[in-house]
Amino acid sequence: MNRPLAPNDTSSFWMPFTPNRDFASDPRLITAADGMYYTSHDGRQIMDATAGLWCVNAGHNAPRIVEAVQKQVATLDYAPHFNFGTPQAYELSSRLASMFPDGMDHVFFTNSGSESVDTALKIALHYHRMRGDAARTRLIGRERGYHGVGFGGISVGGIVKNRMHFGTMLTGVDHIRHTHDPERNAFSRGCPEHGAELADDLIRIAELHDPSTIAAVIVEPMAGSTGVLLPPKGYLQRLREICDRYGILLIFDEVITAYGRLGRASASEYFGVKPDIITTAKGLTNGVIPMGAVIVDSRIYNSAMGNADAPIELFHGYTYSAHPIAVAAALASLDTYREEDLFARADGLAKRWEDAVHGLKGLPHVKDLRNLGLVGAIELESRPGAPGARATEAMKEAWRQGLMIRVTGDTIAMSPPLIITEAEIETLFSKLAGILKGID
Ligand code: PMP
Repeated sequence: MNRPLAPNDTSSFWMPFTPNRDFASDPRLITAADGMYYTSHDGRQIMDATAGLWCVNAGHNAPRIVEAVQKQVATLDYAPHFNFGTPQAYELSSRLASMFPDGMDHVFFTNSGSESVDTALKIALHYHRMRGDAARTRLIGRERGYHGVGFGGISVGGIVKNRMHFGTMLTGVDHIRHTHDPERNAFSRGCPEHGAELADDLIRIAELHDPSTIAAVIVEPMAGSTGVLLPPKGYLQRLREICDRYGILLIFDEVITAYGRLGRASASEYFGVKPDIITTAKGLTNGVIPMGAVIVDSRIYNSAMGNADAPIELFHGYTYSAHPIAVAAALASLDTYREEDLFARADGLAKRWEDAVHGLKGLPHVKDLRNLGLVGAIELESRPGAPGARATEAMKEAWRQGLMIRVTGDTIAMSPPLIITEAEIETLFSKLAGILKGID
């Protein structure tokens, strides 16, 4: 059908994670972007306070990335990586290996966070089989965890609405308790003091099943999409110790936290905890081209290589694994992060950001404020009978006032491009304060 796109025409596009029925009456359409700002279809500048969906870490239209993609598409548009390869994919994987904790030296390329998660879960199961420990088949996630929308991801994920309409999920999956404890930790600056002991819930589950049946546990070191839930101090270290005690692999889902969001290359580095597998996507290419990467400890890779009987060591991969244009975007993104020293920049702004987030304390309906690196969350009291309504109204009003924020349930989340200036932080939070004052 060749119809011109009307600004409110949502009849054919089935929008992801969006109330499709309502969108047409109040569409928010974007036509261009540059740096910290989008242009809306009615010609307004909209500050991007969410880096798209936590991905545009270097800001929009970063010149080096745009140029690299343009050049790549005109040189080598596509090449398969089953039995063939490109030099750039090798370069990218060794650069990534050097960015993640020592010993995490192998990289499997995917096209999204969801694919990275499913790949990581499969690699974990494969690893135990290759070691002759085929009984380890159970996977453990965490309540309220978000690990994308593949069947693996929603099975280990713990967001009820993302699971409830989709049947039985993977079998042999359990969930440890989430760490959100507003009673003890509300308005904490950075990671909360209370709750490291919640990691011991893994002991409960391990002992319930017989620990030798558990393959892996997957958590977001900082849970983003579920409403920015921060790990209590010492929690991740304790999880690591328990995994070691029982021979369970620890997977960190760093789709949001890798590539600078916490002022480091990874949350693993930020927290000083080394998992066995790290899933990434988003900031890998600055959001410009879809791509994910799973970073794997060498002993896991070597276990697969040790299987001399298998003609192919891992029967897994995607048509677009290491897509040349995505690889070009990723290399240029890493160059941009390094040349503009963006991770250190984010780290340097984190205190200013924290003060700005907590400056909203006392505004109407503000129930909790959370921050880490350049991530902020405002949790609002639910409107009786209409959970999520206040945050959604705030998001719509913010758009009208030239600001993009993100909503999950009653929580407003912010994660600006790492190029945000102090003046823009001021503008963002004074606008937000005004918006919150107007919500009843
Ligand atoms: N894992 C985490 C921690 C995420 O935050 C997301 C996306 N927000 C995903 C996985 C899924 O990524 P994608 O949408 O690229 O599939």
